[in-house]
Amino acid sequence: MPTINTDVLIIGGGLIGLSTAMHLKNIRPELTVTVIEKGGKVSDQQSGHNSGVLHAGIYYEPGSLKAKFCLEGNQMLAGLCQKFNLPLKRCGKVIVATDDDEADRLEHLYERGTANGVPGLRLLSVRELHEVEPNVTGVKALHAPNSAVVDYRKIAAVYAAIFEKASGKLLLDTEFIASCEEDGRHRVVTSNVDVDTNLVINCAGLQADLVAINMGVTPEVRIIPFRGEYYLLREESRRLVNGLVYPVPDPSLPFLDVHLTPRVNGDVEAGPNAVLATMREGYSRKDFSWTEFRGTLSYPGFWRLAGRHFRAGVSEINRSLRKGVFVKSLQKLVPDITSNDLVPGGAGVRAQAVDHDGNLVDDFYIEEAPGSIHVLNAPSPAATSSFMIGKHIANKADLRINAG
Ligand SMILES: Cc1cc2nc3c(=O)[nH]c(=O)nc-3n(C[C@H](O)[C@H](O)[C@H](O)COP(=O)(O)OP(=O)(O)OC[C@H]3O[C@@H](n4cnc5c(N)ncnc54)[C@H](O)[C@@H]3O)c2cc1C
Repeated sequence: MPTINTDVLIIGGGLIGLSTAMHLKNIRPELTVTVIEKGGKVSDQQSGHNSGVLHAGIYYEPGSLKAKFCLEGNQMLAGLCQKFNLPLKRCGKVIVATDDDEADRLEHLYERGTANGVPGLRLLSVRELHEVEPNVTGVKALHAPNSAVVDYRKIAAVYAAIFEKASGKLLLDTEFIASCEEDGRHRVVTSNVDVDTNLVINCAGLQADLVAINMGVTPEVRIIPFRGEYYLLREESRRLVNGLVYPVPDPSLPFLDVHLTPRVNGDVEAGPNAVLATMREGYSRKDFSWTEFRGTLSYPGFWRLAGRHFRAGVSEINRSLRKGVFVKSLQKLVPDITSNDLVPGGAGVRAQAVDHDGNLVDDFYIEEAPGSIHVLNAPSPAATSSFMIGKHIANKADLRINAG
């Protein structure tokens, strides 16, 4: 097996790994930086199977990394799309309350979004909602004109191109297998090359906790995979929405519930739901890995989580199996939508970190160990925030390298 030397090795060619690589070469051009990606192309997991939304930054706890990076990331990615001529549709978003309880929670979201500094945010009356979205029904709504849709595969390709232009090395079809430490350096075994390096940055997304464990780190969290399935609106039904249409989310869950999302290519997606996945990269209901599922079942945090959210879990499975139930969720927002308007679409799998006590980790979460940095929770809005998360990690790496 050939051996290469690199100052920094980044595992994972998704938005987070590539953004980190791009920023690190920008801050420290003299360093050799290598990204390994196990797939044959970049951004083929979460980064290429998401809703494509450039979030405005409404939902997140003020002061959290999510709040800060989402707001700044929205601006940075809009600038990047303009500079590199990538598609961006500033279609705006309405979050719609359908009863008084949701209307109260909507007020709370408005306060949060305002505290986070989301531009242009305003509460809409029923009449104003109909002016923005004539086919959407509710008792009150929140309008975020700054929400947009983009193509994250194209954004990842730009990160990769900037990195490679700065003489960064991107190795595709190269899977991290194992590593050991020798004289303060990591010796990393991959599927086709051995790598000697001072610092490993683990951005392996759905596999990040397993990679950390494999490197001898005992992470505080484990990743539980949740599959999200989409339907597509038939072409003649796309007129039902003008922009992004979301329900008021359940504050105890990290997912935003099924919504309607125009894509930059003209499609309109409905979804995603959130069903426990039995395989980390299992995009179809039929995908099953007993080894991986056993890993989930053997984690005590999973059982505590399942006990706490049992009802929500069962109703998600019901909605996944029965199109009628999925349609009913959408009809709360768009009463005219019917089963005939929807055809099956794609799916994505979210990497959600859960701690030992069964708590869903809310904020982005990074652990550091001697010679390594591990990104262990980068769920939505991590695509929107990817530019800023990458910069944050690159700065951490720079500090570590300076400290010797
Ligand atoms: C259904 C869904 C909808 C979403 N919608 C949005 C949205 O609208 N807006 C938003 O901001 N965010 C959204 N997100 C979140 C966002 O897409 C992700 O948080 C983000 O893409 C995470 O990027 P990543 O680089 O951490 O992970 P990934 O994109 O999963 O990249 C990790 C990479 O590591 C590689 N890898 C894994 N193991 C190894 C190994 N052993 N060796 C080498 N390589 C390895 C994988 O092949 C993969 O390419 C959504 C996510 C999902 C799943």
